[in-house]
Amino acid sequence: MKIFCIGRNYAAHAEELGNEVPSRPVIFMKPRTALLQDNKPFFLPNFDSSIHYECELVLRIGKNGKAIPERVAHSFIHSIGLGIDFTARDLQSELKEKGHPWEIAKAFDKSALLGDLKPADSFDLTKPIQFSLHKNGEVVQQGDTSLMLFNFSRIIAEVSKYFTLQQGDLIYTGTPAGVGPIEIGDKLQGFLTESSNFTCEIL
Ligand code: ZN
Repeated sequence: MKIFCIGRNYAAHAEELGNEVPSRPVIFMKPRTALLQDNKPFFLPNFDSSIHYECELVLRIGKNGKAIPERVAHSFIHSIGLGIDFTARDLQSELKEKGHPWEIAKAFDKSALLGDLKPADSFDLTKPIQFSLHKNGEVVQQGDTSLMLFNFSRIIAEVSKYFTLQQGDLIYTGTPAGVGPIEIGDKLQGFLTESSNFTCEIL
């Protein structure tokens, strides 16, 4: 099982971090040991004083494919959920500045929170999907797939150009604006089309 993530997929988020809006999806990966599931708490690591949440829609791939054309890409989506791409922001900024790979800032243990996955056919994929993240009861991020720079089909086509997609692979599809730091004691809750998808306590 592989975990792919798309960076800078919402223009407003690319701008808030001072990044250029990309002309093709920015792709990176996390290992399986990054997964955090079943509403388990997130233990704040001590290697960065600025760990950020990035709430994102997550696709689970349902069948194997390579070089998948955009027009059939939706049929590869098995289920859809919400997740958090936890990011060590200071480390990431330092690595970006030096032009170094950013794995230690993005792919560390438990950096990929995954909520409930719902069958893809329970969504109308011709219409936008809305999601939000609440921190300590307040809305901090709101997402809408109509604001994505690259839609699900384009993402699947692009990732599968380079990597064989296999059943069970996950794709984190990028975060909207509003990312920010977490502290011990914070409670995060993700909502997918208005129903609670995950909760996570920061310890
Ligand atoms: Zn992200």
